[in-house]
Amino acid sequence: MTDTAGKILKKLKEQQEEEGKLPLLLEFYQKLLQVQAAAQNRTAPPAATLNSEEIKTRLAQGRQLAGFTELGLDWELVQKLFSEISGVFAAYPSLFGELPARLQKPGARRLLTAEAVKAWFNGAELPSSLLKDISEPLLQAIIQATLQPFLAGYARAYQDYLKKDLLETWRRGDCPVCGGSPDMAFLEKEVGARWLVCSRCDTAWLYQRLQCPYCGTMEQESLSYFSDDAEIYRLYVCEKCKRYLKTIDLRKAGDEVLLPLERLLTAEMDRQARERGYH
Ligand SMILES: [Zn+2]
Ligand SMILES: [Zn+2]
Repeated sequence: MTDTAGKILKKLKEQQEEEGKLPLLLEFYQKLLQVQAAAQNRTAPPAATLNSEEIKTRLAQGRQLAGFTELGLDWELVQKLFSEISGVFAAYPSLFGELPARLQKPGARRLLTAEAVKAWFNGAELPSSLLKDISEPLLQAIIQATLQPFLAGYARAYQDYLKKDLLETWRRGDCPVCGGSPDMAFLEKEVGARWLVCSRCDTAWLYQRLQCPYCGTMEQESLSYFSDDAEIYRLYVCEKCKRYLKTIDLRKAGDEVLLPLERLLTAEMDRQARERGYH
């Protein structure tokens, strides 16, 4: 288990003991983390296969570090985890709706083929056979939760290389490790620079504040943000592509911020953003 996952689980357990029961979304997340952590314990963490020169060259060329084949996924483990993760989602129909029965049957693990994962990884369309009776966002979420331990493990192998000065050469809207989209950002403590956080592998990278990471626009009249009363959170929005980005200001947020947990704790911001017409 990673340090962060361990800290989050500890925090959730404390909250559970204090309040008797966790809010449903956090209870779901607790189960998800436990299953993901157990999967991580079943496999050796991947080692970096690129040396520091190769990393530098790739980033300068705008090429992510992990291509699909470079991930070297252990298929048996991926498929086993897929069926476990589907089970966790299936246990919360009030959050996600009913999961199709075929995803809960023995053997359902084989539905997640290498072709499907490759399509997901590359942002291509998922095979229609997999999608026939489930919404695409829900299926995407299940695949993402399945691949998270693998991608995050890969990202950790490169963590020490990805220092701020090296990331200065990247500054793109997608993740330098896995090519995923950001789903969160933070303003760092020192100078308040904005870092994006990958929705798939939790890698953080520098990105200019005055540009939309989703459509790349720099038109200042299209970009703005809302903040809460304590000014800890900001919701950056773009009028051009109508996307939003939740951002936490670490200069104001106190010491113990666990970013993956913040995704869930800020669910209310997602609701507000959608209500305002952003996605
Ligand atoms: Zn990533
Ligand atoms: Zn935009």
